[in-house]
Amino acid sequence: MTGAELGLFDLTGRTALVTGGNGGIGLGMAKGLAAAGAKVMISGRNEAKNASALAALGPRAAAMAADVTVPAEVEAMVQATLDRFGGLDILVINAGINIRKAAHEASFEEWRAVLAANLDSAFLTAKAAYPALKASGRGKVIATGSMTTLFGAPFAPAYSASKGGIVQLVRSLAAAWAPDNIQCNAILPGWIDTDLTRAARAQVPGLNERVLARTPAGRWGAPEDFAGIAIFLASSASDFITGAAIPVDGGYSSTI
Ligand code: NDP
Repeated sequence: MTGAELGLFDLTGRTALVTGGNGGIGLGMAKGLAAAGAKVMISGRNEAKNASALAALGPRAAAMAADVTVPAEVEAMVQATLDRFGGLDILVINAGINIRKAAHEASFEEWRAVLAANLDSAFLTAKAAYPALKASGRGKVIATGSMTTLFGAPFAPAYSASKGGIVQLVRSLAAAWAPDNIQCNAILPGWIDTDLTRAARAQVPGLNERVLARTPAGRWGAPEDFAGIAIFLASSASDFITGAAIPVDGGYSSTI
């Protein structure tokens, strides 16, 4: 590769907002974006987690406490990014939760809570960020779906439905915003070792062994596995890729 081709991955001068960027997959992506030169705003509800993530991101980063299910807080989060960095080029829609219950066990409130945190939030964040992404002239949206969109999840129907919604939202945004030179793609993580999966891993008998046996890579994913895909999808290297949903799962979804 020539120096010019490697320069395609350079994010110097670009600004990113990463929701759910204070831990897990979001922090893995935020670290990648910062290492490639971007100024990064991370957000999450927990101020202590925000502060400790910020320490790992270096001097060009900032953090903001915001609940992405609340429209006014989403708007304030985007505005804080613009106030701090003067623009927004890269939006990472990543905040999310899971309530691990089959459909016949979950309450309507639990269903609604998952849809609000995972899907309503994505709509709100994308909508609030659109004017700034359009003004950028080279906007990028990366949304965190899940490999459960490829085959369903008997013990997490709300989660799987919300993530299916993410993929369809991203495809719709990709088409609507292409004239503004904004590319929108989803990533579909497999089993990743984060706070989200740690409780299930400890409580569900045999889960750890099943994940290891079914994942061709032979291991759980790590937050660090998301740095490269974030850089790629945020950079000029992916300018002709939009509306895609890309598994990042060690091969799990490609086997039976
Ligand atoms: P974590 O629990 O580590 O991260 C979730 C993040 O979302 C945290 O930063 C949390 O911050 C934030 N968050 C949750 N709810 C809200 C809210 N209402 N408002 C603002 N921030 C919120 O788990 P992961 O890193 O694993 O999850 C990141 C994304 O990856 C999620 O969308 C998840 O669904 C997805 N994913 C994860 C997989 C896995 O195996 N781990 C597999 C497939 C997809 P705070 O608590 O401070 O609000």
